[in-house]
Amino acid sequence: METAYQQCLNPDCSATFSVSQVLTACDQCGSLLDIAYDWDSIAVPRSLAEFESRWAERLNPLNFSGVWRFRELLGFAPESQIVTIGEGQTLLQRNDQLAAHCGMTAGSLFLQYEGLNPSGSFKDNGMTAASTHARMTGASMTACASTGNTSASLAVYAAVSGLFRCIVFIGSGRIAFGKLSQALDYGARTIQIRGDFDDALARVRELCRQHPIYLCNSVNPFRLEGQKTIMLRVLEGLGWQVPDWIIVPGGNLGNCSAFGKAFSELHALSLIDRIPRLAVINAAGAETLSSFWNNDSLRWQSGRPDAAAIAQRFQEMDTRNERASTLASAIEINRPVNLIKALRALDTCDGVVRSVSDQQIVDCRARIAASGFGCEPASGASLAGLLQLRNEGVIGKSDRVVCILTGHELKDPDLTMAYHSADPHLHGKKLIPAGVHETPLANPPVVVDNDEQAILQALGLI
Ligand SMILES: *Cc1c(COP(=O)(O)O)cnc(C)c1O
Ligand SMILES: [Zn+2]
Repeated sequence: METAYQQCLNPDCSATFSVSQVLTACDQCGSLLDIAYDWDSIAVPRSLAEFESRWAERLNPLNFSGVWRFRELLGFAPESQIVTIGEGQTLLQRNDQLAAHCGMTAGSLFLQYEGLNPSGSFKDNGMTAASTHARMTGASMTACASTGNTSASLAVYAAVSGLFRCIVFIGSGRIAFGKLSQALDYGARTIQIRGDFDDALARVRELCRQHPIYLCNSVNPFRLEGQKTIMLRVLEGLGWQVPDWIIVPGGNLGNCSAFGKAFSELHALSLIDRIPRLAVINAAGAETLSSFWNNDSLRWQSGRPDAAAIAQRFQEMDTRNERASTLASAIEINRPVNLIKALRALDTCDGVVRSVSDQQIVDCRARIAASGFGCEPASGASLAGLLQLRNEGVIGKSDRVVCILTGHELKDPDLTMAYHSADPHLHGKKLIPAGVHETPLANPPVVVDNDEQAILQALGLI
């Protein structure tokens, strides 16, 4: 057996493929692929703290990387092939202010700030792994469809490594300019199709199946291997203690799937003794998972979820031309490609799914910022989800909770400005977007004459 191999997720197929093959799905049955390992042949450190000691040798780029520091847990690549740009230097911040806002005890709420990655979102954790695999297989052209952050991340890896060209497909709907500007700036060939993200992804999958183009969306199982390490760093930040809850926004559902896989493997390797619960938070305008999970009771069922129900739902969505719509553009996705893997993660982690409104998302984003960490709208969904689960009593006041802040605030400054602008017609256009009715945390600039008395008055000093 190879140390690492690709394996079909469908238990009635279970086909395996070498990691040297480039596939976008199982070529026997079309299901998603997973990376599997022959753990007995891998020298995995016996305790998690051994990974931490690699900090002492951080001039070695593999030890500096917050992903490859854990390389035995994603050992599909020879070390000489690894493409790293120092991703994963992220923080776990204890936040008592937000804990109090959620009616929780001090020391129980933590924020994992993935906006600190080189391209400003968690996607770099995955893209370093996908780029490594692209290099291993000799790819000269890579592509992705993107709501923004995937393209920014892929474009960075292509530009820094100089190993391959990069093509980015975007839809014609919402895209935050902070993200699009990155792809353009890093030299990605950017193709904007007339359609939305779901259309762009379907197109790029088709193109990559038929042409020698390497696909970097999260259907790429190597990407998810890199994203597992976000959970390793959370554990590391907690002194290797397992929290009670992980809360993460869900779009294409790659991240939550990777988290579930990480915990399942760590548990099987006896590196942790229990598995935290997982809460995946959808935006109300893109709540396919929530609707499947909560309304239709769709479950993993040992790898045999109700495929007919899924197909029927997607068919209905197509017939009604139902499109995702939320201000949180990173999770504006109605046909999540990793749906089945997400069901597995929810099964592994005794998970829950909730959906939150755009109003809640923008208010929570502003509240996180006001407590010191800027994140983009999609990340606000994790706090909004926590508030909802606290209200329902699902999460207790002393439970240890980690909210994942998936992307940086500066990705989407337009929305932030819109929120804070007292004048809804600033610059001649209405800034407060549909779906937001009030801005309780708005902190607009105060316009005064250039005059000491006027300024002191505005400051409340006279
Ligand atoms: C990609 C992205 C998400 C959604 O992650 P999935 O793995 O697609 O569920 C959430 N937030 C941000 C900032 C993202 O870039
Ligand atoms: Zn298969």
